[in-house]
Amino acid sequence: MNWDGTIAIIGAGIAGAAAAHRLREAGRRVVVLDKGRGPGGRMATRRGPGEFRFDHGAQYFTARDPRFRAQVADWTTRGVAAPWGGADRFVGTPGMTAPVRDLLDGTDLRCGRAVGRLVREGRDWRLAEADGTALADGEAFSAVLLTCPSPQSLALLAGAGEDLPGVAEVAYAPCWTLMLAHDGPPLSSGAPVRENRDPDAAVAWIAQNGSKPGRAGAGTLVAHASASWSRANLECEADDVAERLVAALRDLVPLGEIRHRAAHRWRYAAVERAVGEPCLFAPETGLGFAGDGCLGPRVEFAYLSGLALAGRVLGEAA
Ligand SMILES: Cc1cc2nc3c(=O)[nH]c(=O)nc-3n(C[C@H](O)[C@H](O)[C@H](O)COP(=O)(O)OP(=O)(O)OC[C@H]3O[C@@H](n4cnc5c(N)ncnc54)[C@H](O)[C@@H]3O)c2cc1C
Repeated sequence: MNWDGTIAIIGAGIAGAAAAHRLREAGRRVVVLDKGRGPGGRMATRRGPGEFRFDHGAQYFTARDPRFRAQVADWTTRGVAAPWGGADRFVGTPGMTAPVRDLLDGTDLRCGRAVGRLVREGRDWRLAEADGTALADGEAFSAVLLTCPSPQSLALLAGAGEDLPGVAEVAYAPCWTLMLAHDGPPLSSGAPVRENRDPDAAVAWIAQNGSKPGRAGAGTLVAHASASWSRANLECEADDVAERLVAALRDLVPLGEIRHRAAHRWRYAAVERAVGEPCLFAPETGLGFAGDGCLGPRVEFAYLSGLALAGRVLGEAA
């Protein structure tokens, strides 16, 4: 099969960015579409009032695979990432989106574009919004790589009457995240994170966000609710959730005067059941799937999955 035509990548998270980077490196034309305001996906940084910034999605990433280690070494050399919070842990600098932005540098990236339909036309694909409005200027694509979480990818596949066996098996846990700025003391001397191993507790993880390199705001905390609490409170109002998570946090750490608080719901936060293969690709249709849903709930795994899918398109051996 010839994949010389333009390739559409849906999703500008780390998986889509890794695939786009590899394909462009090999000389392929790529268009990346994301429904969000900017790239990054779950590698996300939210602005609060004033100088406050919160990494409210992924907190850090590991780099164990040699390919990702080489990528992270390059990022740290160029100031795109830096070590933080313990051995083999890295963060994007100045925010978590930086590595994704770096991979997408120079790519035809179109944000604020929610792909709602994949339309088959001969051997090509065209993309449209849910109401049928053409996307990407009506351009024809020889392959479409889905890197959005599996429920969103499944909806697109189903709408096109297609299937990629394995996508439907992926399951995610949700996560409510609290972003908090306060005047109290740091978590504890030298320890920028705290984990709560009680699976029934509301708060599972606390990070001193302001301790990350390049972040202003010493008193900024990010707290993730446990999967069970997030599930039980999934449809609650964000303000109500923020209030209850602050109360739960007070039982765990000393908090000063609260200067800002907000909650964000991640409906598909952490993969609980993955495909178990680096990526899925159907050469007969040119449709593929990559992301953390393939190998597991980590930035590193999502990167490797994106790389693997690009490799399949390029006809490289697995
Ligand atoms: C709260 C939280 C904490 C985490 N902590 C860590 C951690 O500490 N360490 C770690 O390694 N990992 C962590 N993770 C997991 C990590 O963030 C993910 O595994 C990784 O970022 C997934 O990347 P991805 O590219 O597969 O998907 P995503 O980053 O989700 O990218 C998918 C993109 O697709 C877009 N999209 C979806 N539907 C459409 C559509 N119809 N049209 C266009 N675009 C669409 C979305 O806007 C999104 O940008 C955490 C995740 C969360 C939510």
